[in-house]
Amino acid sequence: MDIIDKLTEIFKEFPGIGERQAKRFVYFLMARTPAYAQNLSELVLELKKEVTQCKECFRFFLLNSKKEKLCEICANPNIDSSTLMIIEKDSDLESIRKSGVYHGKYFILGGLVPVVEKTTKSRVRIEELKQRLSAPKSDLGEIILAFSISPQGDHTDQYVREQLKDIAEKSGIKISSLGKGLSTGTELEYSDNDTLKNALKNRQ
Ligand SMILES: [Zn+2]
Repeated sequence: MDIIDKLTEIFKEFPGIGERQAKRFVYFLMARTPAYAQNLSELVLELKKEVTQCKECFRFFLLNSKKEKLCEICANPNIDSSTLMIIEKDSDLESIRKSGVYHGKYFILGGLVPVVEKTTKSRVRIEELKQRLSAPKSDLGEIILAFSISPQGDHTDQYVREQLKDIAEKSGIKISSLGKGLSTGTELEYSDNDTLKNALKNRQ
């Protein structure tokens, strides 16, 4: 594999990027100055140094001077801790947060469960989620599953419901899904405020 193939393979792993686009990125980089490439590679390294993952919701956030372990959502005492929204990824959290329609806590599952999948547990944070739910002195009353409206999203919804069934029953936690107000193929991260507001209102 030459350098072009190697870089193409890396860009292909980016969300929503296929082979052709990945190649275009490589040719774009070839045409830039060495200083451009230097700056890009330094920023990528810096990103990894300056970002950490919240130990409660697993969201990535910029480290502050106090080197806190919790992000500003989880550390905020005014956040409504009676609802927990389970989402696929960081960008979904940002969209919902920006829409201002939801004021509870979050948990990032870290992916969706493919319809045909044998090694699910290694890909999504289901064990971490169970652990979080078993924390004592919780006032959690509802878990809202908020995944994309797609076969994978539906499958993940069912999978998480099944996995949490016992804990939820034992602790009297209701499990609802955001899906009802959204149309098929909807990606949460691209939904507008009204759509999200409706979906949240009509959750079942
Ligand atoms: Zn957090």
